[in-house]
Amino acid sequence: MDYLEWMARGGHERLCALQDGPSGLRAWLAIHDSSCGPAYGGIRIRRYRREAEAVQDVLRLSRAMTFKCALADVPGGGAKTVVLADHLNDRRRAMERLGEFIEELDGRYRCGPDVGFVESDRLALCSATRWYAHRREKLRPAGEATAEGAEWGIRAAVQHVLGRDSLAGITVAVQGLGSVGGALARRLLAAGARVIGADPDPEACEAARRAGVELVDPGAIYDQEVDVFAPCALGGTLHEVSVARLRARLVAGCANNVLARAEHAELLHRRGAVFVPDFVLNAGALIEGAGHDATGRTEFGPELRRIGDTVLRVLRRAEAGGTTPLQAALELAREILESRRRAAGGAAPADRAAPVD
Ligand code: NAD
Repeated sequence: MDYLEWMARGGHERLCALQDGPSGLRAWLAIHDSSCGPAYGGIRIRRYRREAEAVQDVLRLSRAMTFKCALADVPGGGAKTVVLADHLNDRRRAMERLGEFIEELDGRYRCGPDVGFVESDRLALCSATRWYAHRREKLRPAGEATAEGAEWGIRAAVQHVLGRDSLAGITVAVQGLGSVGGALARRLLAAGARVIGADPDPEACEAARRAGVELVDPGAIYDQEVDVFAPCALGGTLHEVSVARLRARLVAGCANNVLARAEHAELLHRRGAVFVPDFVLNAGALIEGAGHDATGRTEFGPELRRIGDTVLRVLRRAEAGGTTPLQAALELAREILESRRRAAGGAAPADRAAPVD
């Protein structure tokens, strides 16, 4: 894998390899774009089969964060850190070492939580850096903010695609009942929707069952007869095989990079399913974290609600242009980025080439 070639194609600024023997820290940190403000992105801790898989993940995720910032009107760009979970032998020390490195970047990168990053990690990391944007002591858990924004986006899409003014009576399949999926399921239930959910984790399932979610086996979630399929687990779950099984007219969830490859947006389109891109729908925690970081405010209700307006804008643009919503969202994000860079007197957008798949 030619990492620099990948960065050039995706328009990335930096890719940092971090290694600390005693703690077992092995991590990649990518900054996609810091030309218009700090680069925001969470820290993901998970197992990767190969090192190249971790690099691909960090490059894709950091690039999607730039688009997410543009569409959510956050004055900044995208970044991400992935930590290879298999090598950690002193996790607290590893997070401190990661925090020290983030501190060296002096605010160019502002981090937050992502999959696998838990409260004890945050405490260790924050002992070594000031640049943790999602201030837990001031803000609610990130997943709840993300779920609130996603609910506005799903409401808008349901109205536009299904012609329904309310979520009452709508059936939604939620894949992954963790911090985002669990919170989204509870919000959908409170709005009167029927929620079918799946998660391999028994604790997540039990909490969801108590809230009123009807559970199915994780392998069966794609086959459910539902109005909306909401993927909220890990990325890459939508591919040739899973897309062929989907029954929903609307696919709208929070999992980052849920399409295994960009071309799967075309496949969904051909099968008559409207795909709301994850980076449009799941900006809630970014809006709250970056917004608090920049202004000190803790309440972002109107900004979260605007995710619904952005979803509508993307869906209408796709219809008018005869493209997929993914294509329309990428075009819109690029236009916003170009005008930001022009306003900042910066160089032409770096990201012109083929997507990093
Ligand atoms: P999480 O770890 O809390 O939850 C993920 C859940 O998915 C876990 O309960 C896990 O058991 C489950 N899962 C794993 N594989 C599954 C499968 N095959 N089928 C069903 N469930 C499966 O993570 P999270 O914070 O809820 O994030 C979920 C997704 O949303 C990730 O892709 C993340 O990048 C994205 N996201 C999260 C936030 C946030 O605020 N937390 C913001 C934006 C995007």
